[in-house]
Amino acid sequence: MRIITHACPACGTVVAANELESRRVMKCPGLHCEEVHRFDDLEDEEREHFLENKDQYRI
Ligand SMILES: [Zn+2]
Repeated sequence: MRIITHACPACGTVVAANELESRRVMKCPGLHCEEVHRFDDLEDEEREHFLENKDQYRI
């Protein structure tokens, strides 16, 4: 299975696509980081791949 993640441009913390998808908008989990991450921050191609294979990403 392909791992899709988004790296915070401010602090480098990596957020998993399934977390972004379940919350849509989330504050960066990085310590003292005020960056906000959205599912839309992923590349179009990554979003598509994630949505097509969503079942595989459920843990
Ligand atoms: Zn961050």
